[in-house]
This record gives sequence, C-alpha cells and structure tokens, in this order.
Amino acid sequence: MVRLRFAPSPTGALHLGGLRTALYNYLYARRHGGEWILRIEDTDASRAVPGAVDNIRNALAWVGLEYDFGPGKHGPHGPYFQSERLDLYHTYTNKLLDSGKAYRCFCSPDKLAATRERLARAGSNATYDKTCLNLTDEEVARRVRVGEKHVVRLNDGILPRRTTPPDLVFGTVRDAHASLPTDPVLLKSDLYPTYHLASVVDDHEMGITHVLRGEEWLPSLPLHLDLYATLSLAPPQFAHLPLLLNRDGTKMSKRKGDVQVFDYKKRGWEPQAILNWLALAGWGQQAELDGTDAKQAPDSTRVMTMDEIVEEFDLTSLTHRRTVLDPMKLEYLNKRHLMGTMTSDDGLTSLAERVHDTVKAAFPASPHTHIPYIKQVIHLLQGRIVNLNDLPTLAPYFFVEPDLNTAEAFSMFKSLDRKVYGRIKGAILARIRDGDVRWDVASISAALHDEIAKLAVKPKAFMTVARCQLTGMKAGPGVADIMQVIGKERTMDRLIMMNA
Ligand code: GLU
Repeated sequence: MVRLRFAPSPTGALHLGGLRTALYNYLYARRHGGEWILRIEDTDASRAVPGAVDNIRNALAWVGLEYDFGPGKHGPHGPYFQSERLDLYHTYTNKLLDSGKAYRCFCSPDKLAATRERLARAGSNATYDKTCLNLTDEEVARRVRVGEKHVVRLNDGILPRRTTPPDLVFGTVRDAHASLPTDPVLLKSDLYPTYHLASVVDDHEMGITHVLRGEEWLPSLPLHLDLYATLSLAPPQFAHLPLLLNRDGTKMSKRKGDVQVFDYKKRGWEPQAILNWLALAGWGQQAELDGTDAKQAPDSTRVMTMDEIVEEFDLTSLTHRRTVLDPMKLEYLNKRHLMGTMTSDDGLTSLAERVHDTVKAAFPASPHTHIPYIKQVIHLLQGRIVNLNDLPTLAPYFFVEPDLNTAEAFSMFKSLDRKVYGRIKGAILARIRDGDVRWDVASISAALHDEIAKLAVKPKAFMTVARCQLTGMKAGPGVADIMQVIGKERTMDRLIMMNA
C-alpha cells in the first residue's frame, strides 16, 4: 500500500505552493488506494508562527483535502507533530553516534564562521574542517558531562558509496552532492533534530512510500539518501514538484502577497476550481506541450471533478518544467465550476447562502436580498458570473433600481425609434396591467414577441433597449427572464419610468 505525507513547517499561512504539494500527495494516495498523513514539522521554534497549524488545517478542510491521519486524527504512526517525537530522533542519533557514523561537535558559531571563511579563502568547497571528529572519547565524555553546548554531525567521510539520486519527476540528479555542507548537522544544540534527520526518520517510521515535495528540496535529496544508507534503511521514492510561477514568469512568493489559500477564499473563488487549476498546471498533456506553448495548452483548463482528477492522476506525466499559474485559467474554471454547482437546488442554495452577506453589504437598503430570491438571480446569471463575489457589480439591478443616467443607457435609447419602442412598450404595459400575462418566462416572452411582431421590428433591437431600461446595462440575461425574476410590480415601474 502506498502512504504519503504532507509535511509543512508551521512558519505561516498555507499558500498556493503548499496546497499544490498537499494536493499531489493526496491525489497519489487516493489514486492508489493508499493513506495520506499530515505531519507538522515544527522543529525550528524560532520560525514558528502562532496560528499557522490551524491555518493549514482549516485551509485543507476548506478545499476538502481530508487527511487520514494527523493532528486531530490519531493513527498508528503518531504523534504527528515532530516536536512530540524528540525521543525517536535521539534514539536514531545515539545509534549513529555509537557506530561512529556521527560525532559531537562543540565548535561555537563564531568559530564555525571563521573556519568557513578560512576554508573558502583556501579555495575549498568544504564548510567545516572536522575539528571535533578528532576529539578523544574521554574528551567528548567530559565536555558532555559538564553540559557544554554541542551539535551532532553526520560523519560523511564514512558514508557508503553515493549513488546518483533518482527522482520521479526530475530524472537523475547530476552533481547532486556538490552543494551539500560538510558533515551536516543532524541534532541541534537545543536537542531538536534538523529537518534532514527528522524527515528521514519520520518518513521511515511512518512507512512513507512516496515523498512528493517542492523543488526547493531537491538539493537535499542526496543527503537524505545518504542518511537512509547510513541507517541501513530502504528509502521511499521521491518526486519533486517544480516551482510555481506567476504569469509574467516571476516566482510566486509569500512576499508578493495574494498567495495564501485564504486570500482566494476571501476573494470568492471556488475551492473546486482552485484544485482543478492547481492539479492541471504542470500535469497531463501539458508536459508534452511544453516547449510549444504550454501556457495556452487547452487541457490545463479542462473542467474536472475531484473524482475525475483522482482517477486520471499520473505521477509519470508530471512536468519538471517550472509551472505557470495563469489567473485567467482560474477565472474560466471558476465560472465552469459555478455552473456545475448551479445544476442542483442544494448547490444553488449553498451559493446563495455564501454570497448573502456580500449582497446585503452592497445593498443595505434593498428589500430584495433574501436567499430564495438570490438563488433565482444566481441561476439566471449562470454562465455569466465568473466569481460569486462579483454578483453585486455584475447585476445590481436585481437589488436596486437601475441607473439610467449613464452614457451606456443614453446611447441605447437612441438606437431604436423612440416612437416604435414607446408603442410596443405601451402595449406590453397594458397587457401586464390587464392581467393578460401569466408571470412565467414562457408567457412573458410570448407576449413580448407578439407585440414586437405587430410592428415588424427586429426582436433583438427592441430587446436590447428594453433590457437597458430594465437594468441600465447593455448586456445581461434575457428580458423575459429578468422580468420574471424582478416581478410584475418592478417591471411595470421600470418600464413606465422613462417614457420613451
Ligand atoms: N517541512 C518542509 C516544508 O515545509 C517540508 C519538506 C518535505 O516535504 O520533506 O517545506
């Protein structure tokens, strides 16, 4: 059985890059009927941000990526906070110390800095001169006894032969060891493990079969494989996920803002659309299309449900090229996912409930902001509304009277012979007033076309002007639909209002 993990450090809110990593882990686990774990890598207290764990958990819950085991969900491999697993890391460290594969280093930060400088001046790539490797056992024991601060380093001089690390996405990594530090630290002086030790120990202890993580960890892969070899453990398979880029090719980063998952929630995006967007960026035929114009690859805007994504997810077709996250694609996918949600009454209700506060805030004096009414409005805007939060600006006329003093409205009214328009409108008004028109879309539409036909006007010309009178806008849903939703009274008021 495959088992995967998402292992964020609680150093801030979950952002899109982290969500993409979580998603791919989730997809692989679900695709292969395996398990998915959330592990919090909180071994660096100085970088911990209060509330970050809750943010990560809430963001995953919001998009519907439910983990099998992790914080709040006990399981056989817990605890799922690394800070609660220190004994385990100490056990492994002691094993390495006892076998001479690791050693204690008492060098102070100042001394280390001076050593690094000296080595660099001498043209060496080494980052440490292994001074403490030469301490006698008695000396080490004495310094430990008196409580002298120290770290534990891997003795990389005795490592088994290093292989060229294989990666499922990047292929074979060449010159992988070139950038590694000399005798990397495994246990820090505060007795917390470094990321490298903790991640290797936990991935082994938790039975992780596949590690899917960001490209920024690719340089650590050789060290991790060395550690597995040193500990005589079988490594999992690794797949590093390429960096996410903005449309202009710049790196997406926390610093540039707007990358937090909850920013997207606040701005009204559908979680399903976000997952669809992230899943397809860098996956599927896009890999094949790379080098032509991947940004335009149609398949990265395929509308997919989560079940379909899980069904088709395939690690071998991931691209290692840097992945552009195009906001236009999110817009398209969002519109389509909204349309999908609108196909059921429950879906419509949930959308109306979500946007209720936004509508009330935009039109505080409007008496037309109750949920069943908003449902009708949303339904009518199907295929036009890109983002739920746009509702107030896209169609204010459902909630308040339209503004007809706009240049758009004036130009509309000029486009049709006023007399002709006035006559048709008068006839329609009369029919409504006389109760001749049943208030459903088909009857309203029939009455409109009836009157239009009598004067041999092109229906489209009349409808455009009528729509403008009813809404103050040039484009929008069908006139009969609008009339049906705003009701008889408001329709009459608006048609009378400007006596064209
Ligand atoms: N704790 C690391 C991070 O937050 C995760 C690295 C890994 O997945 O191994 O980026």
